[in-house]
Amino acid sequence: MGGLFAGVALKTHGYNTTILERTPENLLHNQGAGIVAGGDTLEFFKRYDRTGKPVAVPSFKRLYLNRKGDVIHEEINRQNMTSWDLCYYLLRANYDQIDSPYLEGGKLPEIRPTDGQIKYIYGATVTGIEDKDSHVLVSYTRNHHDDNNATEEPSTIQADILIAADGPSSTIRAILEPQVQRTYAGYCVIRGTVPEPEGSPAALAVFRERFCFFHGPQMQNLTYTIAGEHGTTEPGKRLLNFVWYANFPEGSLELEKLMTDKEGRRRRITIPPGMIAPGPWEMVKEMGQQRLPPQMAEMAEKTRSPFVQCITDVIAPKNLYMGDKVVLIGDSLAGFRPHTVASTSQAAFDVMCLVEWLDGKVERREFVRRTMQFARAMQDMGVRIGNRSQFEELDVGEYIEDRNFASIKREERVYPAWTAEGLDEI
Ligand SMILES: Cc1cc2nc3c(=O)[nH]c(=O)nc-3n(C[C@H](O)[C@H](O)[C@H](O)COP(=O)(O)OP(=O)(O)OC[C@H]3O[C@@H](n4cnc5c(N)ncnc54)[C@H](O)[C@@H]3O)c2cc1C
Repeated sequence: MGGLFAGVALKTHGYNTTILERTPENLLHNQGAGIVAGGDTLEFFKRYDRTGKPVAVPSFKRLYLNRKGDVIHEEINRQNMTSWDLCYYLLRANYDQIDSPYLEGGKLPEIRPTDGQIKYIYGATVTGIEDKDSHVLVSYTRNHHDDNNATEEPSTIQADILIAADGPSSTIRAILEPQVQRTYAGYCVIRGTVPEPEGSPAALAVFRERFCFFHGPQMQNLTYTIAGEHGTTEPGKRLLNFVWYANFPEGSLELEKLMTDKEGRRRRITIPPGMIAPGPWEMVKEMGQQRLPPQMAEMAEKTRSPFVQCITDVIAPKNLYMGDKVVLIGDSLAGFRPHTVASTSQAAFDVMCLVEWLDGKVERREFVRRTMQFARAMQDMGVRIGNRSQFEELDVGEYIEDRNFASIKREERVYPAWTAEGLDEI
């Protein structure tokens, strides 16, 4: 997402861009997942989207359930839900005019004479970078697939600026900061969706246009409504999306079982949709039956597309390298825990700040201050509230406070003093 945010914004401001994406197909696979659209994600679409398609479904209430499925707390709190695939297709429409059913109700964006030139190269895996003083030389391998064989061809490209938006396992960060490691936090998130009409009346009562939570020992579940196929927000055609955190200690047999896919391969971070093995999935569903409210256990029973991600931590010490010619943004700069609901927003925010700096509207120092303080503060907050939820047994009131703290708007946040330390040396 960060690479597309950068591509769309820079194009609009007249910069020529090339996106290198390692995925061997032109379009990324639907991640089948909801995203909470934070303020900066919505601001990005407000500034740069030319399709006119609404990006978010609002939810007005937060509910908390007990283990029996009764509502134990309720509060008014507007939040905007979107889906990964809707954001992705809107960004591709805006960047390289990709048409899709997601645009229904919107339009293919017009091309403006002031737009920069664009190029989207897929099957292009970045492998190295070199500082050439006036530019950065980026090496990548180009993967070609045809019916009979697959080939890899080395290639290079020169860039005035390289924006590293290559995610939490960033290759570019690993080249620049090899000591920075992405570490496992001791728990996983199990995710999936269920079509709205398949939800029982008890499930629909708490999930439809609601943001519904449960906290139990070593476990947290949140379930809410997101846009359905091709981004439709029509009632009855949407999806119920669940996000279920559960502890699987490092080295445990359960973790090994969960992360070994149906082909017997031990995956490090993610079991994608369609790849979870039947045995582990039965284990997960049984855990749901024993420990979740019935409406949430029902989601695990009914989903046809579950997937699993290990929760991890990572943050780089700085975001500018090679005389400011390399910029880390989004998850490559700091991979937040999802409780922050700020990862997509971080990528959008970093890009909006970057463009302001490149256009001379803010100084370099201000760019560093804004982006680094946000990265440090949110990364730290994610670790804190995630650990409290998974490894401490607190009164639900404390979890509600944590969540409300995570929902504070970026503009209203007061960062701790330590987040500003050493920024002048960057
Ligand atoms: C299923 C799912 C649900 C999510 N839910 C939420 C949510 O509710 N709220 C939220 O804020 N965020 C959520 N996120 C996270 C959010 O999508 C990311 O934080 C956001 O997209 C910004 O990430 P990024 O662009 O920095 O990295 P990524 O999205 O990880 O993108 C990195 C890209 O770089 C490519 N790449 C990696 N290495 C190389 C290389 N060497 N060469 C070329 N290309 C490379 C990858 O293929 C990928 O396309 C979710 C993510 C997923 C996958």
